[in-house]
Amino acid sequence: MTPLSSAAELERLLGKRMNTAIISHFNPDGDAVGSSVGMKRFLLSNGQESEIVLPSRHPEFLGFLDPENTIVCYADMKERALDIIRSAELIICLDFNRLERTEWLADTLAASNAVKVLIDHHLNPDKSKFDIVISDPSASSTCELLYRTIMSFSTVQGDPHRLSHDTLTAIATGILTDTNNFNNSVTPDTFSIASDMLRCKVDLDAINTMVFKRYSESRMRLMGHLLTDSMVIEPSLNASTIVITLKDREKFNFADGDSEGFVNLPLMIGKVEVSALFSETPEYIRVSLRSKGHVSVNALANAYFNGGGHERAAGGRLYMPVEQVREYFLRSLEQFLQTTTPDRQ
Ligand code: 5GP
Ligand code: MN
Repeated sequence: MTPLSSAAELERLLGKRMNTAIISHFNPDGDAVGSSVGMKRFLLSNGQESEIVLPSRHPEFLGFLDPENTIVCYADMKERALDIIRSAELIICLDFNRLERTEWLADTLAASNAVKVLIDHHLNPDKSKFDIVISDPSASSTCELLYRTIMSFSTVQGDPHRLSHDTLTAIATGILTDTNNFNNSVTPDTFSIASDMLRCKVDLDAINTMVFKRYSESRMRLMGHLLTDSMVIEPSLNASTIVITLKDREKFNFADGDSEGFVNLPLMIGKVEVSALFSETPEYIRVSLRSKGHVSVNALANAYFNGGGHERAAGGRLYMPVEQVREYFLRSLEQFLQTTTPDRQ
């Protein structure tokens, strides 16, 4: 099925007004929350109720997308979250490519007989788990793909003025955050959508302030500490590593979302092609990988870090003492480069 025929199929399903749940991934980011809220607001403006269920809390800076606290977070309301999934007839999955990305929701999702729709921009979606798949890894964000999908609906006819202002605002938030304010992975569509948004008086400046300019002082000081005392450059591999320990979390009063963007900083150094950020949690080490050149961090995360993502932005997890992660990373990257670039010495 082409994305367009899948979108037509989705529009037909939405017309049936089934009991609908909207789901996104663990550690939801701006694209996860923006696409979920955008979908919910679009449905609501057509008189249809739905519920958003997220596996874990979104960072505080995205709170403006849910002023009435209607998002059901599994971490806070376990039974309610599972009940919504169990009773849904239609489940719209946004911004993830496999059910495991929803952590504790995955088994309940797999067991559900609801019609499942996936709208996502990650590589290699697990198509077998969904009835309709709208996938485009070249899209900057799931929000961009959601926007294109909605624009193709016969009731919208490509006219953004037919969407409510708050639907557009939620969708714009995911595009802004996933592209780092139009810096990465942009397509001609990304800019036409931004231009639609501006014509519809969506305040992109205000969203930019909300998501990139409201951090705490302690977050800024943590960034200074990490760049001075933790960032290590490995010249032979053109790589950088940063480690955030549990001690750092305590000392700098770390809140969810505080390390957002840190992994991109070493890429500003000319010779750094791959940047890795490791964040210690009580259960595991969270891994964030970025690349600005030919190295596919999606493949690297798949092969060595129990994760995945996109060619130039990926993540995963490690289960080892924090003191060992740098060495493990450097060994893994070296091996990875040897197998993927055979002419490398
Ligand atoms: P971040 O480094 O910002 O947490 O994640 C970057 C990208 O990698 C995101 O697109 C995200 O979906 C993906 N990602 C992050 N963590 C994981 C993970 O544990 N597993 C997989 N498959 N993808 C991840
Ligand atoms: Mn995304």
